[in-house]
Amino acid sequence: MGIAVARQLALAKREVVVLEAADTVGSATSARSSEVIHAGIYYPKNSLKAALCVRGRRLLYQYCAEKKIPHREVGKLIVATEDAEMAILHDLHARAVANAAGKVEFLTAAEAQKLEPALRCVGALHVHSTGIVDSRALMLAMQSDAEAAGATFVLRTPFRSARAMGAHFEVTVGVTTQSVLRSSVLVNAAGLNAQSVADRIPRMQKSLIPRRYLNKGQYFSLAGAAPFQRLVYPTPRSDGLGIHYTLDMACKARFGPDDEWVDEIDYTVDAARAKVFCAAIKRYYPDIKESALKPAFAGIRPKIQAPGAPPADFMLQGRAPHGIRGLVNLFGIESPGLTAALAIAGAVVTLVKGCARFSSPSGSPLCSYWPRMPTRPRPRTTNRCCRWATPCVGDRTTRGK
Ligand SMILES: Cc1cc2nc3c(=O)[nH]c(=O)nc-3n(C[C@H](O)[C@H](O)[C@H](O)COP(=O)(O)OP(=O)(O)OC[C@H]3O[C@@H](n4cnc5c(N)ncnc54)[C@H](O)[C@@H]3O)c2cc1C
Repeated sequence: MGIAVARQLALAKREVVVLEAADTVGSATSARSSEVIHAGIYYPKNSLKAALCVRGRRLLYQYCAEKKIPHREVGKLIVATEDAEMAILHDLHARAVANAAGKVEFLTAAEAQKLEPALRCVGALHVHSTGIVDSRALMLAMQSDAEAAGATFVLRTPFRSARAMGAHFEVTVGVTTQSVLRSSVLVNAAGLNAQSVADRIPRMQKSLIPRRYLNKGQYFSLAGAAPFQRLVYPTPRSDGLGIHYTLDMACKARFGPDDEWVDEIDYTVDAARAKVFCAAIKRYYPDIKESALKPAFAGIRPKIQAPGAPPADFMLQGRAPHGIRGLVNLFGIESPGLTAALAIAGAVVTLVKGCARFSSPSGSPLCSYWPRMPTRPRPRTTNRCCRWATPCVGDRTTRGK
């Protein structure tokens, strides 16, 4: 997310420095996703997730075409494997229409099997606008745009703390050697660490930092030829979308992610889970063989709702809730964060300008965390910014420590 925000801010003529704790950008959650371009059907109408996913999807397809980033609008089938699940498909269809998620149509079992002969279902929703993207190529393209517009990416340089001084921040960065940077804007896009970054800004009201819950998703790749040309998803469950079938740009098939609440960030894949995967997949792909499932990788969802609670929306915090000029915090940027990245970046620039009002496609205002402040002319001196984790900085180092 940080890379997308850096690009957008740099294109808006801000001086941007991205602080990245790791050796490379985009090596955390963004490197561990299904790489699916979501249509926008799973999220409640007027939620940020719905609006930013739909807007982000359109921007993403356009950007991928423009930059020749490998992607394909393959479409997906959401399948009901028993009659009782048909009601869920009807709800999803209604939501797709409400969210303007593109063309979605019902298929009978026979119609679905005509498209995908290896599929077993009692009915399906065909979501045409779902796609896949090479997420690494996407991040490289956005980084390259950002750098061409003047942004600087500083690797192995973690954010330590920031003091809000009124018109600017004093940001302490680094591990063994620490430096202090000055910036007028600070965007916290630290993903799984967003809470700990916000916690290290003394003026940040602690009650406004949502508690972080970790939810792990593991993937298994499928040995051999891909059985389906389209993505195949079961009907969603309360904590996730269910173990689904996706393809990468090399047409390699994989299944996942599952979902498991965990206490620590640990990316190991438990090979013994193949049995559970196989049972779940068999419901829509009866020919699956457990021996063909190979442990692949895992990602961790940065949830902000407790296990069992209803899904939370993205939380984009500008000045209105916390009162700190120039600070934007991004919390709970789980799926569809990859799809929504370009739209979230646009929203962050709006928040940085301090004039945010954001509307859903239906025109209704969104989300209590969107500041509703009057637009004020920005003094020239504030044409600088700083953000995180793909963050950025304005004024250069002012003193070493
Ligand atoms: C299993 C899984 C599957 C998913 N599938 C999809 C999908 O198919 N489609 C979709 O649209 N979305 C998907 N998502 C969601 C998507 O991957 C995320 O929303 C997105 O990658 C989040 O990006 P981010 O930049 O917020 O976090 P990250 O990619 O984690 O980036 C945060 C960065 O901050 C850096 N950082 C952390 N702390 C500091 C610090 N103190 N100082 C400096 N840098 C720091 C980290 O090193 C990292 O590079 C999925 C997520 C998961 C977990």
